[in-house]
Amino acid sequence: MPGDKSRKIRLMTVLALLAAAGCGATGKHGPGAAAEASPQVGGTAPAGPSASPAKPPGPPGVTPGPGEVRRIPRPADGLPPVISSIPTRRKVVFLTIDDGWEQDPGFVRQVRQERIPIAAFVTRDAVEAQGAADPTAQGGRYLGAGKWDYVRSMREAGATVENHTLTHPDLPALGYEGQRAEICGATRLIRRQTGTAPTLLRPPFGNHNTLTRRAAGACGMQALLLWTATVQPGGKIAYQVPDKKLRPGDVLLLHFRPNLSRDFRILVDKIRRRGFELGNLDAYLRAAGVTR
Ligand SMILES: [Zn+2]
Repeated sequence: MPGDKSRKIRLMTVLALLAAAGCGATGKHGPGAAAEASPQVGGTAPAGPSASPAKPPGPPGVTPGPGEVRRIPRPADGLPPVISSIPTRRKVVFLTIDDGWEQDPGFVRQVRQERIPIAAFVTRDAVEAQGAADPTAQGGRYLGAGKWDYVRSMREAGATVENHTLTHPDLPALGYEGQRAEICGATRLIRRQTGTAPTLLRPPFGNHNTLTRRAAGACGMQALLLWTATVQPGGKIAYQVPDKKLRPGDVLLLHFRPNLSRDFRILVDKIRRRGFELGNLDAYLRAAGVTR
């Protein structure tokens, strides 16, 4: 295992990035229509600031300390890297959820109330419940129930929304143009529907080739994010590694399927019992130099 190497630049970089990142938050667009001085009977104009609803104190999940995260090198070919875990020794893992078929409102409430950091990799056909449902959807009660409203509600609950293509194809079976259409199409759609463009691609089934990375780069993706363990119904973790242990920096993959809310609680309890925290993926990827 490589020891700790350079630790200094990180803090400065992170601080600079944080300072520069005045983005995000679903800000209202449009000028806040200057109050028109229309005289009103009984003075119905809003009098002073009303008790504003409690704003969340920042993005959910733990963020890296200075020097905690090793830098992930840019590939020599200049294309987006393929990442499946975050290089840290802190006991922190990252939750990612794929597709978007089953849209249980209870899950969004849970994410919002408990401030659980998640990255949702959405597929258009799943969100819009088009065509035959993926087996991972298992024919749930909330199949496509809210469509993009559901995705927006997740985003408002603090989730990030990332790219999992339009139709969930096996990307390497497509040529460059086909892959580009799938990835860029999803990027444009997510931007239109949520107001924020994704920066990460999760290739369906984890399948990718060099053309995938090229197309991803052309569509503004800064990395392909795979995973180190999947979460099964009942909150059971299926590891990709033989020793069947959570490791620092692991990326866990779940799906929007029935009973997600219950399974999710079991999973989160299990992670915490093992002494792990839930990390903010965005902050960790920035610290690793992957995203800006
Ligand atoms: Zn998928």
